[in-house]
Amino acid sequence: MSLEHMTGLRCVHCGHAHRVEDVAYTCPKCGIEGILDVEYDYERVARTLTRQALAQRPLAQWRYEELLPFDAAAARPALHVGMTPVYEAPALARDVGLERLVLKDEGRNPTGSFKDRSSALAVMKAREVGRDTVACASAGNAAASLAGFAAVLGMKSVIFVPQRTPEPKLAQLLVTGAQVLRVEGSYDDAYWLCQSACERYGWYNRNCAINPYLVEGKKTAGLELAEQLGERMTDWVAVSVGDGCTLAGLWKGLKELKRLGLVERLPRMLGVQAAGASPVAAALETGALKPVEARTVADSIAVGWPRNWRKAVAAVRESHGCIVRVEDAELLEAQGRMARKTGVFAEPAAAAAMAGVVRAVREGRVGPKESATIVVTGHGLKDVRTAMQGLPPPLDVPPRLEALEALLARSG
Ligand SMILES: *Cc1c(COP(=O)(O)O)cnc(C)c1O
Repeated sequence: MSLEHMTGLRCVHCGHAHRVEDVAYTCPKCGIEGILDVEYDYERVARTLTRQALAQRPLAQWRYEELLPFDAAAARPALHVGMTPVYEAPALARDVGLERLVLKDEGRNPTGSFKDRSSALAVMKAREVGRDTVACASAGNAAASLAGFAAVLGMKSVIFVPQRTPEPKLAQLLVTGAQVLRVEGSYDDAYWLCQSACERYGWYNRNCAINPYLVEGKKTAGLELAEQLGERMTDWVAVSVGDGCTLAGLWKGLKELKRLGLVERLPRMLGVQAAGASPVAAALETGALKPVEARTVADSIAVGWPRNWRKAVAAVRESHGCIVRVEDAELLEAQGRMARKTGVFAEPAAAAAMAGVVRAVREGRVGPKESATIVVTGHGLKDVRTAMQGLPPPLDVPPRLEALEALLARSG
């Protein structure tokens, strides 16, 4: 059904429109530079995707099926994705010096990150084209997520991870029975090896940056945010940027609901990069991409050679937004601050979005009378070692009240 709503795939580089059946991942004319964008017949979508219709639909990302590139008759993986909660965070807003702050907690997805939105689609698309093995290169979250969704549909998954993948993410992979290949190198090395292996063995490639359908999954967070906040849409939406598909996807979703008349006002996008891995921030300034060697504790956004920078830069420009850079110390500080003020535990890459808001307020890019939504892209339990770095150790105490009293007296 929703395949009928798709009109084609447009190259973001040369602008050429392709028919769906003519291309697999990227524009045949532009090669790897030619990232494709899925286009829909919005008039047709508007006939059935209405406020009344939405009120009857399941509280999961499939509720926007007219705007998703899959066959509505296809089996959907039985893991709950999407409609993650949005929280008003007044204490955190006061602390940061903003009128209003909202968190959208993506850590609540089945494998603990935003990536579940595209992995759910990836396994369905793989099935559609008759593949039974899915593969990806990932710093951890996309991998953990793909492995989970492959497991629920009884498919095989092959995962390429860079050397410094946090242990909890590795455990998530191994426990689902994924074949895990730890590449002696960076995320970028893992990316290229996976790409070549998919071509060689015919596996379905879940690498979001080049697979046009997967960004559509990420888009659902934008659709939800528009629906959930409605008239109370914030002035800004902040999200961290690695490859750039998350930011681009969010923007696309927000715009689509505006186009369908379900939200009136669009926010400005605030992209946030770790200072040690900020080629997209640089590309926004210079208009060209210069790959870098990524250095940051926020493993999920340690991307030195982003594939989707054009889409991300276009989204930031179109929304009159900006991209800020934050140091590792700032994002670790933000991680603690968010947890202390809201109880939400974000992984370092997710906390980066919050650190970006703090910095943007300090630099006057975001005014004190403005409001912002922070998209908390991944759960803090994904990388406990980094989180523990900035935290005091627990107090050791013998199991006796006198001992406790003595200890508390001493520690004040
Ligand atoms: C992947 C990821 C991001 C960044 O998404 P991109 O599409 O690579 O820009 C941010 N935070 C977390 C937790 C992620 O897993």
